[in-house]
Amino acid sequence: MFFDKESFKQAYLEKFAEAEGKTLDEGTSWDKYHALVLLLKEKISLCRALSNEEYSREKEKQVYYFSMEFLIGKLLPFYLVNMEIYNLVREGLVDLNINLEYLLEQESDAGLGNGGLGRLAACFLDSMSFKGVKGHGNGIHYKYGLFEQKLVNGFQAEVADNWLKNGYPWEMRKPDKSVVVKYKGKVRIEYVNDKLNFIHENYEPILAVPYDIPVFSYRNPFYINNLRLWSAEPMTTGLDLELFNRGEFNQAISYKSEVEAISYILYPEDSHNPGRELRLKQEYFFVAAGLGSILRSYKKSNSAIHEFANWVAIHINDTHAALCIPELMRLLMDEEGLEWDEAWEITVNSTSYTNHTILPEALEKWPVVMVRYLFPRIYMIIEEIDRRYRENIRKRFPKEPQLSDQTAIIQGDLVHMAHLAIIGSHSVNGVADLHTRILKGQIFTHLNQIYPNRLNNKTNGVSHRRFLYAANHELSQLITEAIGPHWKRDAGELQKLKTFAYDSSFIEQLARIKTQNKHRLVEQVRKRQGIELNPYSLFDVQVKRIHAYKRQLLNVFKIMNLYNHLKANPNYLREPQTFIFAGKAAPGYHYAKTLIKLINSLAQKINQDKDVNEMIKLVFLENFNVTLGELVYPAADISEQISTAGKEASGTGNMKFMMNGAITLGTLDGANVEIREAVGDENIFIFGLKAEEVLRYSLQSSYKSWDEYLRDPQLKRILDQLVCGYFQDVGGEFIPIHDSLLHYNDEFFVLKDFNSYYETYLKMLNYYSQKSKWFQSTLINIAESGRFSSDRTIKEYAEGIWNIHCR
Ligand SMILES: *Cc1c(COP(=O)(O)O)cnc(C)c1O
Repeated sequence: MFFDKESFKQAYLEKFAEAEGKTLDEGTSWDKYHALVLLLKEKISLCRALSNEEYSREKEKQVYYFSMEFLIGKLLPFYLVNMEIYNLVREGLVDLNINLEYLLEQESDAGLGNGGLGRLAACFLDSMSFKGVKGHGNGIHYKYGLFEQKLVNGFQAEVADNWLKNGYPWEMRKPDKSVVVKYKGKVRIEYVNDKLNFIHENYEPILAVPYDIPVFSYRNPFYINNLRLWSAEPMTTGLDLELFNRGEFNQAISYKSEVEAISYILYPEDSHNPGRELRLKQEYFFVAAGLGSILRSYKKSNSAIHEFANWVAIHINDTHAALCIPELMRLLMDEEGLEWDEAWEITVNSTSYTNHTILPEALEKWPVVMVRYLFPRIYMIIEEIDRRYRENIRKRFPKEPQLSDQTAIIQGDLVHMAHLAIIGSHSVNGVADLHTRILKGQIFTHLNQIYPNRLNNKTNGVSHRRFLYAANHELSQLITEAIGPHWKRDAGELQKLKTFAYDSSFIEQLARIKTQNKHRLVEQVRKRQGIELNPYSLFDVQVKRIHAYKRQLLNVFKIMNLYNHLKANPNYLREPQTFIFAGKAAPGYHYAKTLIKLINSLAQKINQDKDVNEMIKLVFLENFNVTLGELVYPAADISEQISTAGKEASGTGNMKFMMNGAITLGTLDGANVEIREAVGDENIFIFGLKAEEVLRYSLQSSYKSWDEYLRDPQLKRILDQLVCGYFQDVGGEFIPIHDSLLHYNDEFFVLKDFNSYYETYLKMLNYYSQKSKWFQSTLINIAESGRFSSDRTIKEYAEGIWNIHCR
């Protein structure tokens, strides 16, 4: 890398002149950003060449992480921090009259994911590189990522995310590594020399072209990994000139568009599977392209196909990539000539699967007719996997004849993707202890009985280098001054901070840094949305996708109740508070979009009301993404993690808040349970129903939301306010929310948990007024957050699933 400012400046000026062909004065901010990325990329390539040379001497297992989503955010600031040249580069650029901040703004926040699942994949890339795992991402090069959210009259409006409009200098197109993916057509069966051959004919070929992005972790001491994203292109130059010359322009162009549609846009659906054909085509697309290229490079390494599972691990992030199982079978049998049994053994031994959700609407089930029409050979293989599976289960469990039906892959006219993934993998993991227990005990009980060692837990983690070290510069410096720099490599070292719990000067520093981070956020909110927030108030934050199970509504009710009390009694609250929401709603999810409008209507009401607006303020931040998260998590005092118990598989936002010293207000759901174990009851605020209680109410249908409404006058008032003209700017917008609670019996137990939530919140406010105690708890949260680093998670995946040793 660069060791001093002067050598950086010289290299940068040379790179700028070479790449941009103009003087620095003539260059735009984009040009200057572009040249900086090219320079760093070159340095990374150099490192890669050296490390490849060193590491290819010793053969190592390769891991391929298949994910529909990689929510990587910005790379430039993170890589500058990881290379430990951030300050050097910033100062060097100052000498050249360039402000690094402006250059950082030039980079698109690559939003190739919806939320937690995609961000997890991105954190894993960082940790795999850091831990020296040869682990590569495999995904889709969407032309448009997740939409940008704008607020118009308090409603969400969606704008296409054209993240590639100026190009993306981190990526490298590799046309020579393209793979042909085949759709539709017919399968002809031949019988030659005692062997069945399956010949796929009259298919529609599509060219998958990879774009590679280097993954560079902290000081990247090992191998530099790769994120490979596939783009769909026509096999020919794209335009059928014959059609075109005959004047049939539309037809000539429509073929090209139809092909490109496959990698055109990310489906903006969170925890929901709408069952669209294009989505299924996308799933096969990156599976077939990824496996095709893996097998090609495997064969180039001169390894025997029989040993494939010893050298290659295929990990599938949710069932979106479950077609890896039949596709690998196809490659091993049809292309490599293996028999079924051996191909199956290799497939199961190389494949592993992570389950992310138990919400029934999110479990993928595809119509048999769709699968058969789009991928006829793949469907034949799924059918055969299913047939052999049923036969085997009937033999193994003769006394339980219904077992094979209950657990089969093909159920009626649907292909059950989770069953395919479980049956075809050697490891299936949940993402938090509670989630894994629910998978074993409720969702996949029979499969767990059939494969008793297959289901296991790997609690999620987040990159503490991105969300603490890079995102919270001041706090990182304080930590390093206190315990030295080694925590960046080993987040477990954060534990050492506990010795400072009674050091009043350290506690004061924590408080000071929190306020500083609030200032930073306040400034951005002013700039972006023209809203003035009070940096000396308590920041109570709920930022995540908008979803009924995440219960933003419960938080809204709390704020309405505080507001009602404050109107009656101006001294109701001791200290000023700021309520912050952010998050996108899926465009087709009306309920979630109505929630956004409700938050904004309430914000308008509160923020304009002179009786209260010195004490409470509410803001909905536009367009939540990784970059905004990096600004928000470090500024939070309270982390709202209030999903209905049993519904949030893990959550990762909760971990990011914790690292930055926010205190959790949450239910015993997902990883909140483990956060509580880590920090102890004194340093977290837990409320509400437990997962077993929710389950019992649901099974017995014994919950009556009307009872809650009638019993609690505060709650009754709030519900009435929703629909009785209290919000001036709306008509009947909020009636569906009201109905979901009273007419549809409040599926997510908002009313049931309201009282416990509100009382716990008041306790928390009381605690907050004792500042030294509060910041002691903050310190404990930071100190215990090391176990939620994705470095720990990746070590567990490596040793427990992929069978690789890592440091
Ligand atoms: C971490 C993260 C999430 C996940 O948040 P949860 O609170 O776990 O739902 C979603 N979106 C972005 C941009 C994130 O960084």
